Amino acid sequence: MCGIVGIFGLENASRAAFTALQFLQHRGQQGCGIAAYSPEGGIQVRKGAGLVREVFSEAELAALRGSSCIGHVRYPTTEVGGTENIQPFRLNCHSGVFALAHNGNIVNAGILKARLESLGHLFHSTSDSELFAHLVGMGRGDMAGRILSAAKLLDGAFSTVILSDGALYACRDKYGFRPLSLGRLGDAYVVASETCALEALNAVFVRDVEPGELIRIDGEGLKSFRISARRGRCMCAMEFIYFARPDSDIDGSGVHAFRKETGRLLYEEHPAPADLVICIPESSFSAAIGFSEAGHIPLETGLVKNAYVARTFIEPTQALRDIGVRKKLSPVKSLLKGKRVAVIDDSIVRGTTSRQIVRMLREAGATQVHMRIASPPYAWPCFYGIDTGSPEQLIAAGHSLAQIRAYIGADSLEYLSVDALSRACGHPGLCTACFTGEYPTELYDAQSG
Ligand code: SF4
Repeated sequence: MCGIVGIFGLENASRAAFTALQFLQHRGQQGCGIAAYSPEGGIQVRKGAGLVREVFSEAELAALRGSSCIGHVRYPTTEVGGTENIQPFRLNCHSGVFALAHNGNIVNAGILKARLESLGHLFHSTSDSELFAHLVGMGRGDMAGRILSAAKLLDGAFSTVILSDGALYACRDKYGFRPLSLGRLGDAYVVASETCALEALNAVFVRDVEPGELIRIDGEGLKSFRISARRGRCMCAMEFIYFARPDSDIDGSGVHAFRKETGRLLYEEHPAPADLVICIPESSFSAAIGFSEAGHIPLETGLVKNAYVARTFIEPTQALRDIGVRKKLSPVKSLLKGKRVAVIDDSIVRGTTSRQIVRMLREAGATQVHMRIASPPYAWPCFYGIDTGSPEQLIAAGHSLAQIRAYIGADSLEYLSVDALSRACGHPGLCTACFTGEYPTELYDAQSG
């Protein structure tokens, strides 16, 4: 996961990008960067490891002059988060300089990279974005034509922003795996991974960048191009379930409403004999509301989150995740003592967090713990930009429901069905490959890489 933003036609654009990136920080905390264009300074890039507020000082932002820019927050897709992979990437090609930042994972990257290396291209990172940048750089014609030719070669997930000397480009792969929304701020344009970043800037949502669409924004306005013929959407279900903020809308559906509906459907499919419902703050809060309302069971604050500790899923190593769980959640003992508790979580990936939470609730005095998961068992690896580790680390890949229940120590455990998940979305355009193993693309060499 990563978050991207692009701004065109706004004074001090980098300051606006700084704000937008903080509203996308949940999508990546390992590093961030901004590339800004001014006629005097050309394209300047500043990036570094850490949170947005840590990387950019007043002086850094002041150095990023100009009315157009792109920005990125990075979530590492490998166990080691190398700083050389922090985006945006800046590249020189024979028709000028440009910068690129992208969100997603390109499944045929290995094949394309090998082809370019045999032609003498040198790569300084393992990032797919650098590959995209090389393909754009070696194209012919104007920048829009180069981006279109490059994007046609790529398969997989890429929501991308590109900054050149006179224009901002934004494109989305033909499946539409990752979100990308377009807004207006006065005469300026803003594109961002989530609508919450548009809201943060007071920008008015215009529309989503369509799957398979490239848009160019310059002094003459906005122009749309097709990368490929229209096809059905395939938005990542995990964006709705876990990653996106609940105040964002994705492809016309509200994330909060989606999660609440999954909670309602979860109760319909698997009610629980509980005195109270609690969530794992904060991503399962909306689903817990739906479950509580459907079952007429009071929703309570059974776990309190320490807001100043990072999310555990996004930590790149298991050791860091283990420490994170204990630090970030505390049980409300006075509430839990003697109670049968239904715990609503959005997903179980490795199972270690759920196990620690169940233990914590029992130690706090809960007499029964019923886990209800507002998504189906996560049993297949993702090749489109969500790093869940190797398939062996996915607890649902090698264990039955009974085995997972026993491992996490709950009195009962149930998951939402794939059918209910699709119904909660309201339209059929969801990627559910990590629940079903039915991948919407070829996987090329991605399975080994
Ligand atoms: S496989 Fe799962 S995590 Fe990956 S894009 Fe599809 S729904 Fe999202």
